Amino acid sequence: MVVEDVDIEVETRQRRKQPMTEEVLVFTVRPKAAAAGRCSRCRARCPGYDAGDGTRRWRTLDVGSTKAYLQAPAPRVFCGEHGVVVAHVPWARPGAKCSHVFEDTCAWLAAHTALSVVTVFLRLAWRTVAAVVARVVADGRETNDLLAGLARIGIDEIAYRKGHRYLTVIVDHTSGRLVWAREGRNKDTLAAFFDELGAQRAAMLTHVSADGAEWIHAVVTERAPQALICLDAFHVVVWAMKALDKVRVRTMTRAGISDRHAMWATRKNPPDLTGEQRTSLAEIADTNRTLYRAYLLKEQLREVFRVKGTHGRQLLAGWLSWASHSRIPEFVALARSIRRYRDLIWNTLDHGLSNARSEATNTHLRALTKRAYGFHSPDALITMALLTRGGLCPALPGRK
Ligand SMILES: [Zn+2]
Repeated sequence: MVVEDVDIEVETRQRRKQPMTEEVLVFTVRPKAAAAGRCSRCRARCPGYDAGDGTRRWRTLDVGSTKAYLQAPAPRVFCGEHGVVVAHVPWARPGAKCSHVFEDTCAWLAAHTALSVVTVFLRLAWRTVAAVVARVVADGRETNDLLAGLARIGIDEIAYRKGHRYLTVIVDHTSGRLVWAREGRNKDTLAAFFDELGAQRAAMLTHVSADGAEWIHAVVTERAPQALICLDAFHVVVWAMKALDKVRVRTMTRAGISDRHAMWATRKNPPDLTGEQRTSLAEIADTNRTLYRAYLLKEQLREVFRVKGTHGRQLLAGWLSWASHSRIPEFVALARSIRRYRDLIWNTLDHGLSNARSEATNTHLRALTKRAYGFHSPDALITMALLTRGGLCPALPGRK
């Protein structure tokens, strides 16, 4: 762009219901000749139509500590394809009230730090931040096809609003990225994904992992019959974790170590245990044989997914027999449901579906749903998730 003039103006705004004034910089700019007179939707060169709403301002990055704006006429052009539209300006997205560099900075900050920090740092209401993020993500989705080249995907349901509502999310196992999300968790929700994917790309899917939900299997079998359905290992481990918690609550009635200590000692990965937790575990081994056996069963099931392959299958067979004969009702029940899903678990073990990345994305999304601000609508949540986990976060302007 060409800068034609710079002015210092005094801006008055309401702050805590008090009017306050501050000096701002206003850059009067215009597009270079080659970028002028183009349609803002297709960039085609078009004849002018009228002056539109006259001069417009776009918030842009501060100059030092001073707020700054770009100012330019916003004429309209007549595009053969899009009709009467505002002319393209190279410094901002169509319809945006802020410049590209300002929006990209805002989105980058939103992805990397707390929204409360972003609002203070950029002097914006959080609603504006949410609108900016939405525009950046929409722009990114137009230029990046998130559904291109999918082969191994994970389908999951994530609760939000204290578990009253659900999102269905699709993660690419290869890149670990979130590629699609929508409110709801039923056949229609998942069918919408396959509609967007299209039959040709659905035929390229080789593996689909899920949590064992029947509605997911039904849709995948119909829309991508060639794909092998697997059971996500981390769901199975979560089932074992829940069974273990039940055993703990049922058996930890006698005095001794606190329930809290017992909970962490039995839940954690053995290498992550603190000295104190190791002591708790040793005490449990001494005083509560049932809980200790339940703990060993949980750890052994984790081991099944660690070794994978034929050896994993053998371990699983041994585990099923051990759990079924454990006389711990919670684990007898778990063995029953795992036996029901055995073929899907075999698929997981045989094909070494890497879970680390999709589990990290899953954990991130669950954490995102717990953040209180900004997510009054599922769309805002999905937008934020695509920004942080869909690879749509822009680079900071001026950096590569
Ligand atoms: Zn056009």
